[in-house]
Amino acid sequence: MGMCNGMRKAVKLAEETAEMYRGNGGVYMLGPIAHNPHVMAYFKEKGVVKVDSIDEIRAEAGTVIIRAHGVPDSVKKSAAERGMNVVDATCNLVLRSKDIAKMLENEKYKVVIYGEKKHPEIIGIAGNLADPLIIEDLDQARSLSLYKTMGLIAQTTSMPEKYAEIQKELRAHCECLRIEDTICMATQNRQDSGRKTAERAELMLVVGDASSSNSMNLLKACKEVNEYTFMVSDASGLKPNYFKGIKKIGLTASASSPEWVINGIVNALRGM
Ligand code: SF4
Repeated sequence: MGMCNGMRKAVKLAEETAEMYRGNGGVYMLGPIAHNPHVMAYFKEKGVVKVDSIDEIRAEAGTVIIRAHGVPDSVKKSAAERGMNVVDATCNLVLRSKDIAKMLENEKYKVVIYGEKKHPEIIGIAGNLADPLIIEDLDQARSLSLYKTMGLIAQTTSMPEKYAEIQKELRAHCECLRIEDTICMATQNRQDSGRKTAERAELMLVVGDASSSNSMNLLKACKEVNEYTFMVSDASGLKPNYFKGIKKIGLTASASSPEWVINGIVNALRGM
């Protein structure tokens, strides 16, 4: 498992951009390209400056990389209007979700987004819409009013089982519910295989970071079948007390975990 195609492409594009434009007004990254401190440290070493807003960037200069999770189109537009070179590393599947949400709105559905309100992917999707409803869990779905039609999408890294519960609930809130499957296969594959591995392991380790939605959902999926599951960010997180009396270890890695970190953990486990 480990880094998905969307993240790999974004990282590669950011590497090429850092190489090409470094001496040309500076290279900036609008938020972390991946929710992983090792990836961000790597780009810091390459001279890429992380900013949280384009207002932090000197006007009419430099290159700005849009993270894999995307931004509202208005942000890209205002960076371009300020004369910045905009390099868009948004994952194609996030772009697909944005297009679907806009299409639902154009077709007069009340758009409901199941996801984390503060996650950049959701901010990016919602920022293109007039008045979407964002729900983070079943309780918030239950509290929604009644609408004639609803169009539902999910954050790409959501858990399919939780999304199914939301769908069931929302059927009672409208006459017509249009459901779009926007959870990406990379997420589903990691959760499915993580569960299978965790079932067979005495100790399950998930490589990832607490700031990452896909890491946290992978951790939840593994914990559902094996309570003795821990998340580790790198080899330094392998605590000796995890391994007492353990013969069989399962290991998986989130879609934002780079290969070199996973290999470091594998090597450390082999040496134990
Ligand atoms: S987890 Fe899915 S949506 Fe997110 S970057 Fe990877 S492939 Fe794209």
